[in-house]
Amino acid sequence: MRHVSTLNPYLVSRMQSFGSTIFAQMSELAVQTRSINLGQGFPDFDGPEDIKQAAIRAIEQGHNQYPPAQGIPALREAIALHQKTFNNLSYDPNTEILVTAGATEAIAASLLALIEPGDEVLVFEPFYDSYNAAIVMAQGKITPIPLKEPEWTIDFDYMASVITERTRAVVVNSPHNPTGKVFTEEELKMVAQLCLQHDLIAITDEVYEHLVFEGNHISLAQIAGMQERSIVISSAAKTFSLTGWKIGWLCAPRELAQAARTTKQFLTYVNGAPFQEAIAFALESGNHYTDLIAHQLKGPRSELTRSLTEIGLKVCSNSGTYFLVTDISTITDEDSMTFCLKLPERIGVVAVPMEPFYDTPKSGRTLVRWAFCKTPDAIASATERISQLKTKLPSHSKSSSRRCKDQGS
Ligand code: PMP
Ligand code: GLN
Repeated sequence: MRHVSTLNPYLVSRMQSFGSTIFAQMSELAVQTRSINLGQGFPDFDGPEDIKQAAIRAIEQGHNQYPPAQGIPALREAIALHQKTFNNLSYDPNTEILVTAGATEAIAASLLALIEPGDEVLVFEPFYDSYNAAIVMAQGKITPIPLKEPEWTIDFDYMASVITERTRAVVVNSPHNPTGKVFTEEELKMVAQLCLQHDLIAITDEVYEHLVFEGNHISLAQIAGMQERSIVISSAAKTFSLTGWKIGWLCAPRELAQAARTTKQFLTYVNGAPFQEAIAFALESGNHYTDLIAHQLKGPRSELTRSLTEIGLKVCSNSGTYFLVTDISTITDEDSMTFCLKLPERIGVVAVPMEPFYDTPKSGRTLVRWAFCKTPDAIASATERISQLKTKLPSHSKSSSRRCKDQGS
């Protein structure tokens, strides 16, 4: 992912192109312009009251000092139970589970543990920003594998052709940010085959595992032969609508988990003692809390799809996450960065341009990501504003979308 570059004489050259993330930039723009923020992926509502109360209780009961380096036992046990319940995967809470400061730290710790300078990491493109940053910090090299529109499919011949002797790992994010793609069992089996054939380690990012609207979430680690070579990463952020708590985790065979633990202990060492107690409580409750979010966002998702479609935007194929991607070329000649920078002054809404999700930013120039993890009221106000958009745009000869096919709402 390329970010807006800010030349800084103190920053190491390999990090110069990163600047500040597109999510931070767009949230800042939303605050400055008092726009509705459909940019950065965080809910405008809090997670369940009982989980918040559990954190308050934990603070009052004195869980306020450093927790154990691997995370508190109750949370590790709850994560093991969650993996068994939802993915039928068994992990030993004592040796195979590590609690981290969000999924972000789990991703960084894993890559810093596994990647030697010059090693290559396969990443499906478009991709979430922290992958490339962590690969570059580890002095590795990203090998993007473009997902093919309109269904965001993998070209396995291409994928096989770019694997070299230096390819060490593949990052598999399903459900996928930004596209909303939920990878199918067939696709995961093909990925697994390449991992087994080329002795690759899989780092799976499953933070949207409970945000699936069509189909089912399958972890790559469920495919035969893969649990042994996978680091499975998830987080409480999206599942429980508590993005600010930064409680994440990874599950992996003992030696892989231990490798990540070695690097993780020098990143944050530990974090969020009382929040760990509360997330243990949430995960122990089976599907009581995990089912809420997809249920809650079903309406906002279809409302936003309807609204974007009504003004002539093409909504790309999606089955999960917080996000919808649209092809804007049907209503404007502007590139997505220009379009998104002008959106607040035009209609008071912020969305995220997709250029920064591509290694070659041009590939994302007609795509924009819209987040629907908002209350029905906020979505209603946003759709009202979106309905005004066409009158605010320069004239444009309507073209059909080459990237996204028609979607129902
Ligand atoms: N991976 C993906 C795909 C994400 O969208 C996000 C943002 N929540 C993260 C990882 C980071 O998760 P956390 O906030 O738990 O660090
Ligand atoms: N994952 C969120 C998104 O994709 C943002 C989290 C962040 O800003 N690091 O919008």
